[in-house]
Amino acid sequence: MDLHQTLSEVFGYSSFRPHQESVIRAVTSGRDAFVVMPTGAGKSLCYQLPAVLRSGIVVVISPLIALMKDQVDSARMLGIRAAAYNSGLSSQERAGVAISLRSEELDLLYVAPERIANGQLQQLLAGQSPILIAIDEAHCVSQWGHDFRPEYLKLGELTTLFPDCPVAAFTATATKRVQEDTIGRLQLRQPLVVRSTFERPNLFYRVRPKEQVRKQLLKLVREHSPSAGIIYHSSRRDVERTAEYLQGHGVSALPYHAGLEASVRSDAQEQFNRDEITCIVATIAFGMGIDKPNIRYVIHADLPRGMEQYYQESGRAGRDGEPAVCELLFSAADIHRSRYFLSSVTDEQEKMRGERSLNEIVRYSATLGCRKDHILRYFGEAPDRESCGACDVCNGEVVSEEATRDAQIVM
Ligand code: ADP
Ligand code: MG
Ligand code: ZN
Repeated sequence: MDLHQTLSEVFGYSSFRPHQESVIRAVTSGRDAFVVMPTGAGKSLCYQLPAVLRSGIVVVISPLIALMKDQVDSARMLGIRAAAYNSGLSSQERAGVAISLRSEELDLLYVAPERIANGQLQQLLAGQSPILIAIDEAHCVSQWGHDFRPEYLKLGELTTLFPDCPVAAFTATATKRVQEDTIGRLQLRQPLVVRSTFERPNLFYRVRPKEQVRKQLLKLVREHSPSAGIIYHSSRRDVERTAEYLQGHGVSALPYHAGLEASVRSDAQEQFNRDEITCIVATIAFGMGIDKPNIRYVIHADLPRGMEQYYQESGRAGRDGEPAVCELLFSAADIHRSRYFLSSVTDEQEKMRGERSLNEIVRYSATLGCRKDHILRYFGEAPDRESCGACDVCNGEVVSEEATRDAQIVM
């Protein structure tokens, strides 16, 4: 089968999305790749399709064990022979995976990063070399990123362990600096570098002055009702208070934060996925791996920690390509609150990073220029247009400097 035939027969798509084909052609011809594509742009296909197209195994390094099961399940639904290998398996299950590998009954193997150390992966593959190693959420290897994971540093050994196998790194979030750092740490060899635009045309961005937060939230949620959405708070206490308030006003909302039991959390997420509740009120613990397509709004009731985080969190809206709204409720008091919080951070570097990120998000909130252009410039793009047509500033909603005055004073 060729590329296009595989695309339509196995995946059921009529055409490639931007960059998918060039990435697939690069990795199947043995070249490394570094790929930045926004959430929902279709990164998985770039390593799933080669797994089907060629004989031999594609290894996918993925940071969250919880997500692996979903990924394996959805690959299997397409008829791809996929399995996961991580500490969540029993030793019997692990042995089962090893046997399938040896008898060449697998196309796609998801592996947790900590399994790379000590030759575990090599042992598992028993002398076979994979045809591709894909690293998902590759920004986790960079200390300049916002999601650094020490176990990702080990991944730099992959090109030495498997010198003949191409390595492709994927992420939805990387500034130029994180990109350079990631390529270096993973020791990619003259990779094809693809940076897709960060523009999400269907998302509308808006900043509002935060006044009576819970009343504002209720009004916004009602405006969107019965569509689904996420409200982010920075503290667990506010998550619970807002969820209770909304429930008390007839909204089917549930709280989600790391202090809740795992079963309560997964229950909330399930109900949200099945559209049984319309609103999740959450801390950032509600994060990676939300791939519900029809989220119509993401409201930040408190300041996000930085632009990258804000882009990621708000970007969970509108993955189906239909219109969706990203709102940020802003007050100067929140800046002080964040500063206060940062003052207790003992690691100097971390404190500096935190302050830099905070300033970024304050600058975004205070801008009198286009919000979306502001975001794109942050990611190193140079948008050239009169108006994005999809932000409060371009839409003429920010009439005076009133809304942003506070922020500017603080700046
Ligand atoms: P990412 O990992 O980049 O966030 P995914 O790989 O999860 O994105 O893909 C997002 C959605 O896009 C999925 O529902 C997937 O089925 C769909 N998709 C991917 N490639 C294509 C394509 N070529 N045509 C249509 N839909 C696609
Ligand atoms: Mg993905
Ligand atoms: Zn705009």
